[in-house]
Amino acid sequence: MFHIATEAEIKAGRVTDVYFLRALEILRARGIHKRVVAEVAAKALPQEWEWAVLAGIEECLELLKGRPVECRGLKEGTVFHAGDPVLEIEGFYEDFAVLETAVLGFLCQASGVATAAAQCKKAAGEKPVMSFGARRMHPAIAPMVERSAYIGGCDGVAVVKSAEVIGIEPVGTMPHAVILLVGDTVEATKAFNEVISVRVPRISLIDTFHDEKFAALEVAEALGDDLYAVRLDTPASRRGNFLKLIEEIRWELDIRGFEDVKIYVSGNIDVKAIRELNGVVDAYGIGTSISDAPIVDFSMDIVHVDGKPIAKRGKKSGVKVVYRCPQCFKTQVLPRNDSAKDCDCGKTMEALTMSLIVGGVAANDFPRPQEIRTYVLAQLLACSS
Ligand SMILES: [Zn+2]
Repeated sequence: MFHIATEAEIKAGRVTDVYFLRALEILRARGIHKRVVAEVAAKALPQEWEWAVLAGIEECLELLKGRPVECRGLKEGTVFHAGDPVLEIEGFYEDFAVLETAVLGFLCQASGVATAAAQCKKAAGEKPVMSFGARRMHPAIAPMVERSAYIGGCDGVAVVKSAEVIGIEPVGTMPHAVILLVGDTVEATKAFNEVISVRVPRISLIDTFHDEKFAALEVAEALGDDLYAVRLDTPASRRGNFLKLIEEIRWELDIRGFEDVKIYVSGNIDVKAIRELNGVVDAYGIGTSISDAPIVDFSMDIVHVDGKPIAKRGKKSGVKVVYRCPQCFKTQVLPRNDSAKDCDCGKTMEALTMSLIVGGVAANDFPRPQEIRTYVLAQLLACSS
């Protein structure tokens, strides 16, 4: 057996910290039955991020629907800040207490991955960014990881199952294995060109045996116009000055008339690398820096009990609404009964908090991942890099 919980076990509250079960036992013994509002927010964001992209809300709603709760919050793909309540659950505590562990798990990891992808996409601009990092995570969560990467801004994902969940075609080039087994980079690239569907771009991996510059020229001459791109996955120990190496390949390709051959890079690519290389690289395969992104440290806290605002030390009580300026994207968190002030820029703030579950039923249809990604990319224009 794989070491995973099934969807049914998660929905049944089996993936719960035991102290919630003990809390319920105590409340039952004392006959305490109170209606509460619990709020999910992150006090701070990791690594001095100024903003983050919300993901995992849809899975939370899948988990919570059918229970006698009302949910409000931000929609999937919303850019949020530290302190913004992203989800509120209202109901009798015993009706959702055992789901807290799973709710936080859905939001913390998916939002971290979506944010890391958004940062990479923002750094890369028009240059495509592909998610290649599923292999760094447990395979059971590959679709979640790559969907989060995609809605955060990745242009494509490598894993077949992930692409199926998103509703796109998976993307990829060729592994070193095929070149080692064929025995030669040019022969392996020719074989790819002969065997693989013409719908798949011909992207030759040029760092297996020899110098990348000469391998790039050899495959370009062998394939001519059929060659779409070369990919460098050069190990860090052989990179030297990676930017100079890529600039040299670009020069040598151009001077021989191969200006249309694009240059892809992968392996240890992060935001810093993208910023360094973006003038000369045409696309990125990004692994660990997206799939193993820091998690967003969300917590769930009770802020309202039996109609009265109450919260623990260090936490603002009461039911809240997040407002955002449609122009400069500043946010403001206000008590539900207050109305928003105009932004400093003069625009009227708009409420971002919306109904998500009403009477146990999802209040809105879930948009397609493509639409969520478009929403994220539009917001990124207003975000600091
Ligand atoms: Zn404004």
